[in-house]
Amino acid sequence: MDPGPPFTWTVLGAGSILPRAGFGPAGYALRAAGERRVTLFDCGPGTVRALGAAGIDLAEVERVVLSHFHPDHCLDLLALAFARRNPAVRCGPIELVGPRGLSDLLERGANTFGTRGWARFEDARVLEVDPGASDRVLALDGLDLAFAPTLHAPEALAWRAELGGSSVTYSGDTGETPAVAELAEETELFVCECSFADEHAVEHHLSPSGSGRLAHRARARKLVLTHFYPGLAPEDARAVAARNFAGPIELARDGSVHVPAPRP
Ligand SMILES: [Zn+2]
Ligand SMILES: [Zn+2]
Repeated sequence: MDPGPPFTWTVLGAGSILPRAGFGPAGYALRAAGERRVTLFDCGPGTVRALGAAGIDLAEVERVVLSHFHPDHCLDLLALAFARRNPAVRCGPIELVGPRGLSDLLERGANTFGTRGWARFEDARVLEVDPGASDRVLALDGLDLAFAPTLHAPEALAWRAELGGSSVTYSGDTGETPAVAELAEETELFVCECSFADEHAVEHHLSPSGSGRLAHRARARKLVLTHFYPGLAPEDARAVAARNFAGPIELARDGSVHVPAPRP
């Protein structure tokens, strides 16, 4: 009997900070088959709200992994901390993983909301990684992570998660850099940002051609395009990316669920 996919990747926000129906700021939920617990990748504004739409309970969020500190990727950390303090929910400890500076960001954010600690995580284990480190792997409970610095902000990271004999690689925000392709080598699910059309390409984000090239270079088994700014039609992005990448391409949208390509 087919055991089904080893994990699901649910898109909580497939867009940018600019308002666009169906494409909220960055947030994703990774869940292993047969598990209720989820790991969030990024936590942009609207992520907590999107958990409800995705049928994910607050108490099921056991970990958040951050790519970088731009608000469209992390602002809802404060909302998450506040929600977890609500007496109506009972949450266990949470693990917060991100670039160096994460503890400081959490502290300053919590202080902004007053001394009573409304936006403070009470029982968080914070794990900071150095984007320039030579050892770029983290073995966590039930999840092996690896990361690579991206071409975006000084602290920006791409993440790869291995679980259930398969893998997903999330680019975070990045320009076209071989470091991300190396991290994503032969990954079963490459979730790659695709911000602007080729005609409006910028150095620190990807356009469809660049996303396709990275997926091709990585020999990714499946590509999911995401982080669409309002000017880019996802179907157009797919058509352009497909000129450089021959494998399957899916389009993220708020609420879409993606599974890894089967391992050969
Ligand atoms: Zn960014
Ligand atoms: Zn972004």
